[in-house]
Amino acid sequence: MSKPDAEVQPYRELSPLRLWRCGTRRQQACLFGGWLALLVLCVGLGVGMVIWRWSGIPFEFGGVAVYLTIYPPLWICLLLTLTLGWWWGSIPAYCATVSLALYAGMPWSWALLFGLANPLGFAVMVIGYEAIAMRRDLRGLNALLFYVQQSFVASVFSSSGALIWSYTNDYDRTALLPVWQGWWLGAFLQSVFIVGPLMAMLWPRTERWLADHAHLMRDTQTRSRVSLLGLLGSITLGVVVYGYATFSLAEAQLNPEALRQTMWIFYWVFVAIVLFMAFFGYQLFMHWQKSQNILLDALQKLATTDALTGLLNRREADRRLAAEWERTRRSGHSTAMVLLDIDHFKQINDRYGHLAGDAALRHLAGVMKSVMRKVDLGARYGGEEFLIVLPETGVRGAHAFAERLRQEVAEAKVVHEQLSFQMQVSLGVAIVRPEEVSYERWFSRADQALYRAKEGGRNRTELDQTAVEKLA
Ligand code: GH3
Ligand code: MG
Ligand code: MG
Repeated sequence: MSKPDAEVQPYRELSPLRLWRCGTRRQQACLFGGWLALLVLCVGLGVGMVIWRWSGIPFEFGGVAVYLTIYPPLWICLLLTLTLGWWWGSIPAYCATVSLALYAGMPWSWALLFGLANPLGFAVMVIGYEAIAMRRDLRGLNALLFYVQQSFVASVFSSSGALIWSYTNDYDRTALLPVWQGWWLGAFLQSVFIVGPLMAMLWPRTERWLADHAHLMRDTQTRSRVSLLGLLGSITLGVVVYGYATFSLAEAQLNPEALRQTMWIFYWVFVAIVLFMAFFGYQLFMHWQKSQNILLDALQKLATTDALTGLLNRREADRRLAAEWERTRRSGHSTAMVLLDIDHFKQINDRYGHLAGDAALRHLAGVMKSVMRKVDLGARYGGEEFLIVLPETGVRGAHAFAERLRQEVAEAKVVHEQLSFQMQVSLGVAIVRPEEVSYERWFSRADQALYRAKEGGRNRTELDQTAVEKLA
């Protein structure tokens, strides 16, 4: 089963206004010209349907002989809607249906309303694709099931036209069921079996073209929540209307067998829609959960990292320090802490500027990371003060580490733009003492050692007094 793809582009429409303003002459000619030609073709086909009296293919459905409507303008307009956008498909669809209706003698006012049937169905399709970024090449189970579900709901919506058609043609209620069934079923089958395969063929190239011409696309607002509500609302309404129309029209047939069979058809359609909804609900939930996790990870990183150096920040350092202190006390092993402060950092800032000072801080963090082991913790504890925790490390190890770090910093050059300068650091080292009451004591012993390093002339490492005793 294919997963909802993170790279799938959400539904975006080609903006006629942007095409007019920013498109090349060739693009304008091809797109506007091609579209106008298709519009004329749709109107011609629509009127042709009446002239050639091509009302559809007789078909036995639910104990009733229905006439499956075949309506080629639907293929063209649905393709335009799914590829370029709602307006691009809906205008030709509206023109074709209104012309057809007028030619067939429908009163003006009814014809104008009648024309809205297909655009209504297309809107349902578009809302679905806006709500869930789904591949439109229909490759993969998700994409296919979604398209089939949307086709059904859209067909039910657009079959509202059947009611107007029957009413204006004075059909009696018993004739309505075959017309209506044939209408929605015809639209559904055409959209699945004709438009679907065409979409699968056309979409990959169209998608590439649209991605390459993002400047011609309409700006998308983040309206996926509204679209999702629209999607759920339209599916629910579609099923409710479908159920009501099926039963009330089947009842009017005065034929118990037709009613019985219609009930079963309704049952299966209903089951299919519920399954689709559950399937997409699950997909949507998984997608939502994934994005939540990504967000949480990002938040966690933001809350625990120092932005300038990428080391842990003070809050996280305190938390880890406390945990490390607890762990060491319980295990009885030795853990060391190294506190580090840049010597005469104010002078670096004053001489080279604050940006060079920032570069020096980043540089120092880099040297620290290169000297530290994976298990060591490195944190920026204050402005230009750093803390390193070395688990499972004794006095000698910690002293050797601090000295290596001090030397590496002193030997390296900080490069910032055209500037290049050197810096030095002072370090204080302290080892955990299990009898102490808190990790703050451990920290303050390291701090005192650092203070002595400063007092003793800087660019040096000092050990906490207890550590010196251990070393002796
Ligand atoms: P000492 O050798 O005694 O440590 O001298 P010092 O100049 O380093 O003194 P101190 O530690 O008091 O200096 C801290 C300076 O660090 C002051 C402040 O301007 C600078 N500083 C703190 N945070 C930042 C920062 O994020 N970026 C830059 N560029 N400077 C910072
Ligand atoms: Mg300082
Ligand atoms: Mg300093």
